[in-house]
Amino acid sequence: MENLKARSVRVILGTGGTIAGRSVDAADNVGYVAGEVGVDDLVKAVPHLQGLVLESEQVAQIDSKDMGFAVWKRLAERVAHHLAREEVQGVIITHGTDTLEETAWFLQTVLAPGKPVVLTCAMRPATALVPDGPQNLLDAVVVAGCEGLTGVVAVSAGWVHSAQHVCKVHSYRVDAFDSGDAGPMGCVEEGEVRWFQPLASTVLASSGAEGRLAKISAATALPGVALVTSHADADGRVVLGVLALNSSQQGAKTEGIVVACTGNGTLHRALAAALGQALASGVRVVRATRCARGRVIPHVGDKFDSSEGLSPVKARLALSLALLPDWA
Ligand code: ASP
Repeated sequence: MENLKARSVRVILGTGGTIAGRSVDAADNVGYVAGEVGVDDLVKAVPHLQGLVLESEQVAQIDSKDMGFAVWKRLAERVAHHLAREEVQGVIITHGTDTLEETAWFLQTVLAPGKPVVLTCAMRPATALVPDGPQNLLDAVVVAGCEGLTGVVAVSAGWVHSAQHVCKVHSYRVDAFDSGDAGPMGCVEEGEVRWFQPLASTVLASSGAEGRLAKISAATALPGVALVTSHADADGRVVLGVLALNSSQQGAKTEGIVVACTGNGTLHRALAAALGQALASGVRVVRATRCARGRVIPHVGDKFDSSEGLSPVKARLALSLALLPDWA
């Protein structure tokens, strides 16, 4: 049997974000530059982490609004490298809030890790009067040490969210994340995690993940998938523009389109007509809902697939991954 006590190391990977942001004026929580403070300094700013066996590594130093495949690939490789080490309990990733949910879903899909991978972040820069990053980092380290936890989670403002459900819902407040109908998995209180359901019931299936990292490492880019929104007074122009570009043979083709639909997957008829043309030309079309809660409930006779509960941005990523050769 594996000796869990021998797993004493937690690895913190820095990628940038507001948690590593620097502002000229400590009271300025908006006009700062993200991705400035190194991960070693983020760790040093939390004296309570001293005495734990921690390692840190700077994987990237970016504003997560600019996240992309190159950083995802490197991050997945470094996470996998550390998780494969017997002595590692779990991995923590410091990340910007803007695309945290996409990175969480990317890592969950590609790695389906058997140990905790905990993304954390901040809404205020490291130099703020009252930064939220240090507490979030401390909480994330606690969660990464939880026996029985597997998979990718996000820790922010005292909540633990699953990769599947986590979603940024506020542009400014410190408590910026939500898990929709599912609710958070648990919360961190004074260095202890209170799980709301037995951990075994929250574990996402890891089957099918074998070999995915190798496919990511071999890829130079993800297949192109566009995200469009249905709304009042919509038309099909953006979709027709995509199709025109596809037939012009200029640049990489857009192989899929995800639509953030109204309500339960409904589409403006003009947009639906253009999407029908896209489908007929071989472009995959997937419907997600633009509602903050709920999912597109599939129905017999649907012309377009549904996102199986994934939000528009996660559905876009999922479709992009699914379009990689030999992914399934
Ligand atoms: N733009 C920042 C980022 O995502 C926002 C943040 O971290 O809160 O890196």
